[in-house]
Amino acid sequence: MDFDLFVIGGGSAGVRCGRIAANHGARVGIAEQRFWGGTCVNIGCVPKKFMVYAAEYGMNADDARSYGWDIAKGAHHWPALIAAKDKEILRLNGIYARLLDQAGAKTFEARAVFEDAHTVNVGGEKITAEKIVIATGGHPERPDIPGAERGIVSDDAFYLKEMPRRVAIIGGGYIGVEFAGIFAGLGAETHLIYRQPLPLRGFDEDIRIGLAEELAANGVILHPDTVPKSVKEIDGVKHLALSDLEVLETDLVFFATGRVPNVANLGLDKAGVKTGKAGAIIVNEALQTSVPHIYAIGDVTDRLNLTPVATAEGHAVADTLFGNKPRTISLKNVPTAVFSIPPIGTVGLNEAEAAARGPAKIFLTRFTAMRHQITGRARKTIMKLVVDAATDKVLGAHMLGEDAAEITQGLGIAITAGATKADFDRTIGIHPTAAEEFVTLRTQTRLVGQDLAAE
Ligand SMILES: Cc1cc2nc3c(=O)[nH]c(=O)nc-3n(C[C@H](O)[C@H](O)[C@H](O)COP(=O)(O)OP(=O)(O)OC[C@H]3O[C@@H](n4cnc5c(N)ncnc54)[C@H](O)[C@@H]3O)c2cc1C
Repeated sequence: MDFDLFVIGGGSAGVRCGRIAANHGARVGIAEQRFWGGTCVNIGCVPKKFMVYAAEYGMNADDARSYGWDIAKGAHHWPALIAAKDKEILRLNGIYARLLDQAGAKTFEARAVFEDAHTVNVGGEKITAEKIVIATGGHPERPDIPGAERGIVSDDAFYLKEMPRRVAIIGGGYIGVEFAGIFAGLGAETHLIYRQPLPLRGFDEDIRIGLAEELAANGVILHPDTVPKSVKEIDGVKHLALSDLEVLETDLVFFATGRVPNVANLGLDKAGVKTGKAGAIIVNEALQTSVPHIYAIGDVTDRLNLTPVATAEGHAVADTLFGNKPRTISLKNVPTAVFSIPPIGTVGLNEAEAAARGPAKIFLTRFTAMRHQITGRARKTIMKLVVDAATDKVLGAHMLGEDAAEITQGLGIAITAGATKADFDRTIGIHPTAAEEFVTLRTQTRLVGQDLAAE
């Protein structure tokens, strides 16, 4: 065999797996067809967050006047933002490739497909490996409506030549609401169209309500309970027909309507690897596919599509196979953020999930953050704790407001460690912060799920 391990895909999951396996002494080959670092670095988390910062700087410039700064916000220069973002990402691509080289992995800049269960064809070269890891990620999907090809998807949003004056974003998931914040913050007339009554299906209801209010306060025009029907182009203007019979005229239609695993033409049938819903590769707890020496990690398994999950899985597979440290990754209590404006941080069960499993105490607060007492910006911070009424364990923490992502990381540790509400209560706060509210929430807002206790 040419390698102990061959990794298909050089994104978050694949790079981590290949690097750690090589560090453990395995002979590793890894193929990447497009860009080292994959989605997160190139067309996901990283460039997205730069764009969110760009939008926030504009708002900060507005707010600064309340603090005595005599500044007037000028125009935003989109090409300058894209150039700065591209420069930083080029640097990160280099770092990812170098990390693999330094670890001793052999890198291939080509597409890899299976020939059989131990052989991959990498840009025409046949390579054999003892173990193979599939880490090919996913890609955005357009809805099946007439004219859908006239709209863009998130992959394209990072390379737009100019900033659109008017944008219609379809999809109320995290990518949709994040880009709504970006485009509205940079000055575009922004519409957000989503199927549900509220954006962010699956998140806590109070946070969803709060987010809808904040989006509207930032000037985003919301279209709840609405789906797109067709896209036409007339004299360079997109005409987006909606289910409520309205036709929006816009410069850019942006479909944030979901992602699917990258499995097409990968030769999975030749290797005997089984897939499930939407092509997601089926894995067991150890991330083994239906073929025991072939593993799948990251978004291609379509379970919890987040970078830290992908890297943790890559690391665990490398440790298990070559580090003599067999281990699995728990997808329970994974903290996560939405970089909307303002952002959301969430970990553990939301109120509805907790209520469905038994009595839970809800502690909820809603207040104006200190900085906005002076700016006058109508922005409310929401914080919520969901506590098991029987054991006092904190089951979930949710926040909408500035620094929510940063604050939630620490809460994730507490909840993973099994902290109780009493533990939160005996923790001394840091003053003056918003975060201290999480340890001073004394008054129970409501009790939910009590019907289950009576059964
Ligand atoms: C707009 C957007 C914003 C996001 N924001 C966040 C965020 O804020 N936080 C967060 O945690 N997650 C975020 N994510 C999700 C995150 O990017 C993914 O969970 C993560 O990148 C998954 O890593 P992966 O290695 O599984 O796949 P990917 O990063 O997609 O990597 C797969 C790689 O495999 C390559 N490849 C595919 N097929 C082949 C083949 N046959 N041969 C060779 N190479 C191949 C691809 O080119 C790609 O580089 C975001 C995603 C998007 C789209």
